[in-house]
Amino acid sequence: MTNASARPGKIADFHCDVLGKLLYSPELNPLDSSANPADNSLDVTLDRQLAGNYMLQAYAIYLTESKPKTIYPLLRSIDLFREKILSCPEYEMVRSKSDLERAVAQGKIAALLTLEGADGLEGDWALLRNVYELGVRILGLTWNYANWAADGVLEPRQGGLTAKGRELVRISKELGLLLDVSHLTDTAFWELVELTERPLIASHSNARAICPHHRNLTDDQIRALIALDGRIGLTYVPYFVTDRKEAYVKDLLPHIEHICSLGGENHLMLGSDFDGIELHVNGLRHAGEVGNLREMIVSAYGTSFAEKLLNENALRFLSKNLPE
Ligand SMILES: [Zn+2]
Repeated sequence: MTNASARPGKIADFHCDVLGKLLYSPELNPLDSSANPADNSLDVTLDRQLAGNYMLQAYAIYLTESKPKTIYPLLRSIDLFREKILSCPEYEMVRSKSDLERAVAQGKIAALLTLEGADGLEGDWALLRNVYELGVRILGLTWNYANWAADGVLEPRQGGLTAKGRELVRISKELGLLLDVSHLTDTAFWELVELTERPLIASHSNARAICPHHRNLTDDQIRALIALDGRIGLTYVPYFVTDRKEAYVKDLLPHIEHICSLGGENHLMLGSDFDGIELHVNGLRHAGEVGNLREMIVSAYGTSFAEKLLNENALRFLSKNLPE
């Protein structure tokens, strides 16, 4: 088990879209925010992670809707991850429990590779196995639309998993690939819960009872994730936080409170969606401002709960579910 308690206030973030931006703007520098143009910057950069006291960052491979979603941009994204992020010694790639323990022991930022949308795998199990070999450890089945595996939240027919998607669940279990339900339709969510024998995560979704957005989770969905010992990543997408015009850091509190009231104290973590959003919560514009969230949680609930939400719940999930 990782010794998270020795690193108070450290941040573990289960979702950002830096790789999505790098794919289309490879000139951006994920190590130094001052090197980027102000109008086309990255929310998550090394200097900002250090300022925010980060210990873990999940980097999602995301292929935009505007270009073909094939294996080529997916592989290019993994190369960008290695060349532009992992090449810096402050990071340690995490594919296994022992990688995670080493990253924590050495005080590095654990870098976890995830895939947002199975589209680029093209329904080919050989591609899936290769992508796993390259280090992808968490897979979100869809983005907002339908693909070969399942329907995403904005797909009008609101379907569930395809036959191939069901096989994907089975093969993912064999491989040890973890599954992410953020972006799925409610139908696909429940079919997946029915099929899975492993914990699921919602890497970047809030509570629908607090903010009625289809990307947020219903109370029954939150209970189902908790029952599977899965995780919910509190996200800072302003319109998933509140339906008012402006979102503030304090608007995250009712989501925390609500998910905990359903039994989620040991299942809630962070999933910023930085670099996947054009608008930001006031006071949470980039990784360097996460201290505002930390301060608010500490003053509302005290340090031991804050540690769970900021890092311990995420680390315990990985310690339990990553391969040896
Ligand atoms: Zn997303």
